[in-house]
Amino acid sequence: MQFLLEVVEILTNYVRKTFDRSTKVLDFHHPHQLLEGMEGFNLELSDQPESLEQILVDCRDTLKYGVRTGHPRFFNQLSTGLDIVGLVGEWLTSTANTNMFTYEIAPVFVLMEQLTLKKMREIVGWPEGEGDGIFSPGGAISNMYSVMIARYKYFPEVKTKGMAAAPRLVLFTSEHSHYSIKKASGENGHNNLDSVHNRTKCLFPLVFCLQGYVPMFVNATAGTTVYGAFDPINEIADICEKYNMWLHVDGAWGGGLLMSRKHRHKLNGVERANSVTWNPHKMMGVPLQCSAILVRERGLLQGCNSMCAGYLFQQDKQYDVAYDTGDKAIQCGRHVDIFKFWLMWKAKGTVGFEQHIDKCLDLSAYLYNKIKNREGYEMPQHTNVCFWYLPPSLRGLPDGEERRERLHKVAPKIKAMMMESGTTMVGYQPQGEKVNFFRMVISNPAATRSDIDFLIEEIERFGNDL
Ligand SMILES: *Cc1c(COP(=O)(O)O)cnc(C)c1O
Repeated sequence: MQFLLEVVEILTNYVRKTFDRSTKVLDFHHPHQLLEGMEGFNLELSDQPESLEQILVDCRDTLKYGVRTGHPRFFNQLSTGLDIVGLVGEWLTSTANTNMFTYEIAPVFVLMEQLTLKKMREIVGWPEGEGDGIFSPGGAISNMYSVMIARYKYFPEVKTKGMAAAPRLVLFTSEHSHYSIKKASGENGHNNLDSVHNRTKCLFPLVFCLQGYVPMFVNATAGTTVYGAFDPINEIADICEKYNMWLHVDGAWGGGLLMSRKHRHKLNGVERANSVTWNPHKMMGVPLQCSAILVRERGLLQGCNSMCAGYLFQQDKQYDVAYDTGDKAIQCGRHVDIFKFWLMWKAKGTVGFEQHIDKCLDLSAYLYNKIKNREGYEMPQHTNVCFWYLPPSLRGLPDGEERRERLHKVAPKIKAMMMESGTTMVGYQPQGEKVNFFRMVISNPAATRSDIDFLIEEIERFGNDL
């Protein structure tokens, strides 16, 4: 017990420091440095037991050399922030250490999951009492569910007979969609993935029909990973209805906007989708991991995935076995991802999530306006604030090969300096032919305008002499 109390102290200290802006975001080391052992921090496994004293040291070191993703100046990923109630939820979940597959061993968590999914479906706008869903290990897996369920809907025999039971299928998605859509289509035996934007919108499914393919599935992204752009769901839904295609909305990043009366219009038409991916672990600030796949038609999840394993899902249990939801999952054992989310929802209320989303979008707008007219920045306009910083040495250069090449190297260099100094973190990326730019995403509830100002100061401090 003493040991446990000491661990709690390590954790609470860590949390306190994470919110203290004078603490660094990270203490960066190269892999070889960590592998060689930092100040006695030895990653190698040992044959003999270590003392609990040493275990405490290991815990401290693990946190010390990690990255404080809850720090107000951490902007590197779509999932950031350290919500205290969410953290408590995670601690309780680990303490309970159970498995989501049956009501038998997770009665409370299974009910929480059912109720929360129902609420999320109502927020999407599906009629009350309709639909189904399940929490999955992440947006990529939720997207995979959508492809599997769509295929099951149109060609149920694939479940027993394999791909030979289906015609040649085509899936559509945009160039900017998340790579997990391509992955899901490959893993499900469809190598025919076409980019929506390549074709005249109304004609593209027809072209494939004429070639003997069956257009089956369209993914519309609600909040693209890099730019935060929203596909026009209603327009896409019209086409899907016309050609009897499955419409999936990937709201892994932008799904949280559904909680905001001010911003949910960006997902107008989402209620026409057949399935929706929504990651509370991104914009809503729920600790990793927490992602839901929502399906409008009840029964498909079960039909697509159930294997009726007799050793686990006995049908003669003396309670309502409809609550043994585990057979809907592609997993067997399933982590309890629901509790922290449920607890946060209790603590904040629906209005609390709404305020959080509105605040994140306000901060994005603040950053956008701040750099719009500032010397040395260029921006393509999008919901995520994506921008180039041009060091003074590049500012006079005409737009051409030389400038592009030099600009391409600026963001990685600034990022490396940022990590060495450990003061803040923001991601950069290329997109298509574009040179590397910074992608500023705000989902961190601890961030304020002063942190945005700080980020810009740091970019200029590191980049000024490049
Ligand atoms: C992040 C993201 C995903 C993947 O979600 P994970 O939880 O990381 O698996 C899928 N789609 C979009 C649009 C995303 O931004």
